[in-house]
Amino acid sequence: MTEFRAAPARQTRLYQDVADQLREAILTEQFVAGDRLPIESELAAQFGVSRAVVRQATLNLEHEGLVTVLVGAGGGTFVTQPDTTPVLRALENYFRHRGVPFEDYLHAKRILEPTVLNDIMRFSDRAHRDRLQANVDAFESACREGAPDGELLTLSLEFHEILISEVGNPVLELVLGALVRLGDRVPEFQQTHNQDWQHILDEHREILKALADNNARAFRECMLEHLESVEHIYGDAHVIESSRRR
Ligand SMILES: [Zn+2]
Repeated sequence: MTEFRAAPARQTRLYQDVADQLREAILTEQFVAGDRLPIESELAAQFGVSRAVVRQATLNLEHEGLVTVLVGAGGGTFVTQPDTTPVLRALENYFRHRGVPFEDYLHAKRILEPTVLNDIMRFSDRAHRDRLQANVDAFESACREGAPDGELLTLSLEFHEILISEVGNPVLELVLGALVRLGDRVPEFQQTHNQDWQHILDEHREILKALADNNARAFRECMLEHLESVEHIYGDAHVIESSRRR
């Protein structure tokens, strides 16, 4: 950790100024993941504010996923490795609040997913394929054991999350990850339980094989085929839901 110096807080909403400064310090790596921030009373003195203001600022940063607050002995406010969880949570709230229809997720998926297939092929390494293999294995035994639909859905989504987690572009990874995670949380999709899991598993296996064989053409072909059959499921799910509404 490099030395962090607090300037006296200025704004009317003091805690925002405190949070802004601490956030900037974290984003510019004056504090790095794992560092413990100075204790509340120390920060309060440095910023010239009350401890309650520091607490409010820290709470905000925790919601943003930049720190985590641990209580008890050995506790404190620790800098975390930022991930996409808070962004996805905010997006989910926003999309659901706006009542974004299923078709919009579908449309976006249809446009975006095929554009990164070459990048997946290019950036996929041994570790990436091992994660995919572990997912396929877990999916297979869950199918065999007749696991509940919810569990199978999670596993099948996880395959796609892993797949698009390495396209060499964090912006695309976030957008595509959000499409996978959020599209399938749309309540009308959650309510459908008519998936042919064995078929999905077989297609995942084929996709992984093409990737492992470094066969770009086969990879593109089975990915597009899979997107289409998954789209059928979505489409059917939507039809079922609209007929329920009528
Ligand atoms: Zn799939």
